Amino acid sequence: MSKVIPYGKQDINQEDIDAVVKALKSDYLTQGPRIKEFEEAFAEYVGSNYAVAVSNGTAALHLCVLALGLNEGKKVITTPITFAASANCIRYCGGDVVFVDIDPKTYLIDLEEVEKLLSKHQKGTFSGIIPVDFAGRPVDLNKFRNLAEEYNLWIIEDACHAPGGYFVDSKKQISKCGNGQFADLSIFSFHPVKHIASGEGGMITTNDEKLYNKLLTLRTHGISRTEGNYKNSVEFATGESGLLDYPGWYMEMQELGFNYRLTDIQAALGKSQLSRANEGLKRRREIAAKYFSVFSGKDFIRGQSGIVEGHAYHLYVIEVDNRLGLYNHLREQSILAQIHYIPCHLMPYYREFGWKEGDLPHSENYYRHCISLPMYPGLSDNEVEYVIEQVLKFFE
Ligand SMILES: *Cc1c(COP(=O)(O)O)cnc(C)c1O
Repeated sequence: MSKVIPYGKQDINQEDIDAVVKALKSDYLTQGPRIKEFEEAFAEYVGSNYAVAVSNGTAALHLCVLALGLNEGKKVITTPITFAASANCIRYCGGDVVFVDIDPKTYLIDLEEVEKLLSKHQKGTFSGIIPVDFAGRPVDLNKFRNLAEEYNLWIIEDACHAPGGYFVDSKKQISKCGNGQFADLSIFSFHPVKHIASGEGGMITTNDEKLYNKLLTLRTHGISRTEGNYKNSVEFATGESGLLDYPGWYMEMQELGFNYRLTDIQAALGKSQLSRANEGLKRRREIAAKYFSVFSGKDFIRGQSGIVEGHAYHLYVIEVDNRLGLYNHLREQSILAQIHYIPCHLMPYYREFGWKEGDLPHSENYYRHCISLPMYPGLSDNEVEYVIEQVLKFFE
């Protein structure tokens, strides 16, 4: 096979292209009707009351921390096995990142370790927690919510890997990632390697109307256009006395926001992609089942993503001993497997804060062995077979 097989890839069809062309020919290129349509369709998909489209997943994280705020202690908890943006948003707001080790079986932040950490500090030391549905495996947010209540924390769910994913809560109900039930805010990314592509793009979902309105303002410079919210007088706004209504042009910048808007062109693509998200998810689960059936019981496999109810399989991870050897072998066969992730706490930037090797042993051990195999809806059965064949060939 000479065709290169990446670890992840977008799937663009003619309907997507038509939707983008239609947006280009319309009156709006940004903040037109397609933004709202995409937001509403996305909120329905994940089961939340509100959704706010933004320019990318990193912007989504930044706005979430701004909207929820940091208290005096300014410490926020997250996992080191994630894309750096999950932690960086805390730094954007001047907070300290406290990384907590993963559970080596799930690869997710370890709830018991979080609890241990919280119990050792005074209440109020930590502002919040950012759990990540790493690889598409949903965090049990019900358990994190209980902890958050006890320690007065907010929760931002980084669900970039898990649109359509779910876990089963303590009442045996299916709880979809981003449904707003347990997290204050959840965020998603529409980078081409994620489930739904819009070029660049992101979404925040919530059930909290106040936070929703705050996010809308922060997304566009901190500007409010809602008459009941204005702080300046009608007299000032009109430049005349004795009038009751604010003039049509009036708006107020009330806090320091950003330009984190999504364009209508991107929203058109995102909404078209969203209509096929369930199909894509089904295909991802088929591929995972195939990998799992071949790799389970093989002695060279130390661990793998496995078959987990509600898993959205952004990634399929296997843990092996000769990881570098396997990586190089697959590259030679045009299979571009990837490593997710180099632990964030050992990035040079975070080492400056005192993080060092040995601090989070499960995460560091995971990093030495992990490799993500190709996983995307457009991966054909033949290609899956070829990847499997090459992995087996390397070890056998
Ligand atoms: C992709 C990703 C982000 C950032 O999203 P962008 O749209 O690339 O800014 C944040 N967190 C996780 C876990 C991601 O995978």
